[in-house]
Amino acid sequence: MSSDLRRQQKQVVQEYLDRAIELRDLHAPEQNTEAKQALIEAALKAHNAVLIAHYYTSPEVQALAEATGGFVGDSLEMARFGKQNSAQTLIVAGVKFMGETAKILSPEKRVLMPTLEATCSLDLGCPEDEFSAFCDAHPERVVVVYANTSAAVKARADWVVTSSIALDVVDHLDKQGKKIIWAPDKHLGRYVQQKTGADMLLWDAACIVHEEFKARGILDLKKQHPEAAVLVHPESPESVVELADVVGSTSQLINATKTLPHPAFIVATDQGIFYKMQQACPGKSLYIAPTAGSGATCRSCANCPWMAMNELDALATVFDKTDNEIKVSPQLVTKALIPLERMLQFTAK
Ligand code: SF4
Repeated sequence: MSSDLRRQQKQVVQEYLDRAIELRDLHAPEQNTEAKQALIEAALKAHNAVLIAHYYTSPEVQALAEATGGFVGDSLEMARFGKQNSAQTLIVAGVKFMGETAKILSPEKRVLMPTLEATCSLDLGCPEDEFSAFCDAHPERVVVVYANTSAAVKARADWVVTSSIALDVVDHLDKQGKKIIWAPDKHLGRYVQQKTGADMLLWDAACIVHEEFKARGILDLKKQHPEAAVLVHPESPESVVELADVVGSTSQLINATKTLPHPAFIVATDQGIFYKMQQACPGKSLYIAPTAGSGATCRSCANCPWMAMNELDALATVFDKTDNEIKVSPQLVTKALIPLERMLQFTAK
């Protein structure tokens, strides 16, 4: 990717980021959380709807999803739950690509989100037209894209993967002698490439949350807590991944807090994950990996600004708005369904 293109994409991400922070600040501070949760619960029942939340949303939203028969999970688990649940309306508390994935897998259902402004720097960093041109220039390669992409980019792909199955899928393709195009996360792509030895061409985008973690800060924290294991999401930079005791997807990291004997963990992913980690390992200590360091300009501080838009105030009005329904054209659904179903079938095996 040219440096001009990379610069333009950074600018697009920054503009969305500024807007996300502006919109978040518009909302009033939380008051009477229980009353709001009761109001949302009643609305879910009245509309035959179910709340599906990502691990990176706030503890209040995750608790509400659990208390109302909904679900909390990673993007793959969310998509599966939405498809299998009998509710006719899915409320997706996450970011836009998650709502789109839910709609593609369940096109007959209504999919609403607290706001469609909630996006992702990886999705923004991989526009369909530029990505298609890149794929067209390398027709001999199998196209593997991360779940954090638009419906249009998924429609251009042969495979969709999440971080929980990226290694397995790429290893499977490598064993068949396939060469791969990988998009959009360059850090996860590099990690998969190193682990599998596959021939991969990497797109150049990154997650603004994970990119901020600092190896030096983790080393300093580790000196204060030598008993702690370091858990790292593979969207983090290489220097951070190198310090990990466990590298894995959100669900894999939560599971590690249960299975590892350590009494404490330093965690390099969005701090929304602490809600489920605390349930998984009560009594153990959790420390967020540092995002600041000398000369650092933290834009996210281990808390995705787009995930933070899924607050109770926004959920309370989710049925009243007219601009928050996920729409994906039938043509796009048909095309994007192919790599998504391939992923679901692969994980089922
Ligand atoms: S945490 Fe990163 S990858 Fe996840 S939604 Fe936010 S920007 Fe995207």
